[in-house]
Amino acid sequence: MATYARLPVAFRRGEGAWLWDTEGRRYLDAVAGIAVCGLGHAHPAVTQAVCEQAGTLIHTSNLYGVPLQAELAERLCRQAGMDAAFFCNSGAEANEAAIKLARLHGHRRGRGSPRIVVTDRAFHGRTLATLTATGNPRIQAGFDPLVEGFVRVPYDDLAALERVAGTEPEVAAVLLESIQGEAGVIVPDPNYLAGVRAVCDREGWLMMVDEVQTGMGRTGRWFGHQHAGCLPDVTTLAKSLGNGVPVGACLARGDAASLFGPGSHATTFGGNPLACRAALAVVETLEREDLITRAGDVGERMLADLRARLAGRAGVSEIRGRGLMIGVALERPCQVLAERALEHGLLINVTGERVVRLLPPLVIGDDEAEQIVETVAALVSGFLEGEIA
Ligand code: PLP
Repeated sequence: MATYARLPVAFRRGEGAWLWDTEGRRYLDAVAGIAVCGLGHAHPAVTQAVCEQAGTLIHTSNLYGVPLQAELAERLCRQAGMDAAFFCNSGAEANEAAIKLARLHGHRRGRGSPRIVVTDRAFHGRTLATLTATGNPRIQAGFDPLVEGFVRVPYDDLAALERVAGTEPEVAAVLLESIQGEAGVIVPDPNYLAGVRAVCDREGWLMMVDEVQTGMGRTGRWFGHQHAGCLPDVTTLAKSLGNGVPVGACLARGDAASLFGPGSHATTFGGNPLACRAALAVVETLEREDLITRAGDVGERMLADLRARLAGRAGVSEIRGRGLMIGVALERPCQVLAERALEHGLLINVTGERVVRLLPPLVIGDDEAEQIVETVAALVSGFLEGEIA
């Protein structure tokens, strides 16, 4: 079904930060499968893990013990400060699990019809519940009736959250991104997440942070919320968790970690040996090679270089980001830049209509990072000067 307006290119092979199309042409990849291939393409550790596991055991079902799943849960929980994991296959499913946890939590606390606070311009997925949680009317259009039980507030607005606390007795949880990705790389005030944590503590709400795009080192810490020094009750992962092998996770701690019992949630494929082995290879590589610190450093340099070249130019509204999640926000729609970048052998993404988003792999080299900055700066300049329309 035609769910995507695809760009006119198709790829056959990849290595590190590079892709080769069906004609043999090479492209520098500053999209990384939309923040999925954090270790780059064809990373040897993931390749070896997947090949070995495929020749040993791919799937058994969750009716039986899955040792690799237990090992992955332990490794992820250690990094995230969490107590338990539910594994699934995508970001939307991870958020569905979080939404169900919030409902159970609410009922346990006597809310007859529990509600979840979500934010304007959020993106949490495309299933019915997650598209309802998503704050984009275009994504919701045509799919009503939407799911009940959500209250929406502006992102990065603690006063709005306080107003909900004062007027909405049925709230059970808050679900939000640590940096809004699809909205255009919106980095909140440094005190925002800690403020959300304080309101959740006071009100008995679960703080649920969607780290699907921001997780696994992209922002320079394992999880985006770690920059704020606060610990959520629930956090969700997917995208780069498996470096391209589909795997998602909903992690929880404290009381939230024991809300699900046998029969309350399930998945056929989730957490199978193949997916868990791939994710373990990702976790081990991130731990061994300190790519996360590097993501923070390289990202900071790219941001500074982009600002040096473009900040203050007429038509540029803001250049922002954290680690290897960078947005160049322009004043008018600029989707055409993704197509023009292709002609220059570069993959970039445009989100929120007017934000050039860069999500290169964490393994990006210094020269490659510089090349991305040079090309993006030249393309944006051409666009601002009317040479690219
Ligand atoms: N949450 C966030 C923050 C995302 O960026 C995305 C995808 O872009 C999702 C959830 C949905 O993930 P998936 O497409 O794997 O369902």
